[in-house]
Amino acid sequence: MSASNINSISIALVENNPIRQFAANPNSRVAAMKAKCAECMGCNLDHMERGFRASISECSSYSCPLHSFRPFQAKTTSR
Ligand code: SF4
Repeated sequence: MSASNINSISIALVENNPIRQFAANPNSRVAAMKAKCAECMGCNLDHMERGFRASISECSSYSCPLHSFRPFQAKTTSR
């Protein structure tokens, strides 16, 4: 794999990191909630935990104040 490919992948990972996204947009409540849940699942500025989105989606900490507002929840269909 070439250095430019590695750089492209690194940039994409940074852009998908909710904690970095919040750092770039600190007035966004949605970004703040995503960042908090990502941090809760082991992510930080330089690391994204494998499968963190699914872990947040399946979060069973019902007493957490953010639980109802957490990102990456499965969509439900209404009839
Ligand atoms: S909702 Fe779940 S993942 Fe998000 S902060 Fe609370 S306990 Fe952590």
